[in-house]
Amino acid sequence: MRPSKQKSRTFRRVYVRTPGNRLVIHYKKRNPGKAKCRVCKNELHGIPRLRPFKMKNLSKTKKRPERPYGGNLCSKCMRKLIISKIR
Ligand SMILES: [Zn+2]
Repeated sequence: MRPSKQKSRTFRRVYVRTPGNRLVIHYKKRNPGKAKCRVCKNELHGIPRLRPFKMKNLSKTKKRPERPYGGNLCSKCMRKLIISKIR
């Protein structure tokens, strides 16, 4: 019997095929929610939903779009902000 902590749905279940051809359940923590724009709260694209220790292993270019305010603002809000700053 598994520990009761793992029986809860707090953990997601990952079915893994072992080298001995057995199907085993691995319990893993769930991924965080989608990143959101700071201004309009819409979902941001190009940002992986991964736990911090996995984000650490990614290159910087894989973590957010390469533009000013990439990973903080969506492209629309970024455009508005930059236009308002120039004027
Ligand atoms: Zn936005």
